[in-house]
Amino acid sequence: MLGAGYAGLTIAQEVAHRSRGRIPITLVDRNPVHVLRTELYDVGRLAESGERADPFVVPLATVFDRTPVRIRQGDVQSIDLAQRQVRVDGEALEFRSLAIGLGNVAAYYGVPGAAELTHQVYRLSGAKRLAADLVAVERASAHLPGERRPRVVVVGGGSTGTELAAEIATTEWTGVAGLGARPPAVFQVTGALPFLAGFAPSVIDRARAVLARVGVTIVPGVNVARVEPRSVQLEDGTVLVADIAVWCAGLEAPPVVRSLPVAHGRAGRIAVDAHLEVADHPGVFAVGDVAERKDPVTGTPVPATAQAALAEARVAARNIVARWFERPLVPFRYSERGTVVALGVGQAAGAVRRVPIWGSPAALLKRIVQRDYARAVERGESPSLL
Ligand SMILES: Cc1cc2nc3c(=O)[nH]c(=O)nc-3n(C[C@H](O)[C@H](O)[C@H](O)COP(=O)(O)OP(=O)(O)OC[C@H]3O[C@@H](n4cnc5c(N)ncnc54)[C@H](O)[C@@H]3O)c2cc1C
Repeated sequence: MLGAGYAGLTIAQEVAHRSRGRIPITLVDRNPVHVLRTELYDVGRLAESGERADPFVVPLATVFDRTPVRIRQGDVQSIDLAQRQVRVDGEALEFRSLAIGLGNVAAYYGVPGAAELTHQVYRLSGAKRLAADLVAVERASAHLPGERRPRVVVVGGGSTGTELAAEIATTEWTGVAGLGARPPAVFQVTGALPFLAGFAPSVIDRARAVLARVGVTIVPGVNVARVEPRSVQLEDGTVLVADIAVWCAGLEAPPVVRSLPVAHGRAGRIAVDAHLEVADHPGVFAVGDVAERKDPVTGTPVPATAQAALAEARVAARNIVARWFERPLVPFRYSERGTVVALGVGQAAGAVRRVPIWGSPAALLKRIVQRDYARAVERGESPSLL
């Protein structure tokens, strides 16, 4: 199993359980922890926890304690599907069955300066760096001339950009950076795509209203042309001064996946069949953000969410066991339970089973779901998510 994210962790648990330990499992990840990635927008909490223990991780050793799953910490460098071999930190690992769950990485679309000069919250290390820089900028803000406030530009009009912009705007920065800290002015550049594309109109309207209330300025309709050391330049010539710029504008499959000689979907994702298997490679599955599976009825791709990754993982695990013991495979069908977008401290909007939910109840629901997920993972149980 490659990757101990939402997909990989669940597959390892489920295969161990379903095969009653008869299938030897090696779970490979570069980190010794499972990262609660869906919470990485919460930079306020990261800033508060400072250098102390990470709030958004569960050690893999705890999850797989007293299970037959072997954890191999290391970097997956290459995957040889023909030779059935994976190279991890120079060591060759042979496999009979493989599940690829390596997630995705930020896509910068060749925008000059974006990769070098912006922060991101797609990885824990990035979110921690952003939190630390926000604290530093906030501390220095007490000495800014006149009425000037720190300026943060968030690039991206999807749920990650929205959650992050709202979180930065509503965090009580004086608590972590000192009494003189001035509230940041937050700009969200939503790009040429519609704001919160794919979300229900009720969620979009509420998100707009909350962002306006907490002082986030939405800059719609235009993409970023380049990023300079203290500014973000848009394609229409607008220059936004930025003490901090954050890139939440897109994701793509990691290079080790993009280079695989298999059918690829959007952004280098691995195209998988109805059983989540890679064409012409029986026993090789791709799951989670790294995979592209289109709904056979609607033709729309299964979303790149943790919720979908967990659902796929359960089916992939069944099929790994089925392949191993030469039984029939089961197809994957996705049905979304709901989505809730965090909108800063104590606010959120979304829909559960198509019923709209917003305000503090939505924020509470999101917190409970996140907490229950983390607790289930810690106990070695098979978790679910919104
Ligand atoms: C801020 C934010 C908020 C989100 N909120 C939600 C939400 O509310 N609900 C929701 O459903 N989804 C949400 N998502 C999306 C969700 O996080 C992803 O869809 C989910 O993480 C996908 O799971 P995965 O297992 O495919 O990949 P990941 O969870 O990213 O796991 C991939 C794993 O592979 C490892 N890895 C990658 N490359 C290598 C390598 N070369 N060698 C070794 N290890 C490697 C990584 O360390 C990682 O552990 C959010 C995402 C972000 C960034």
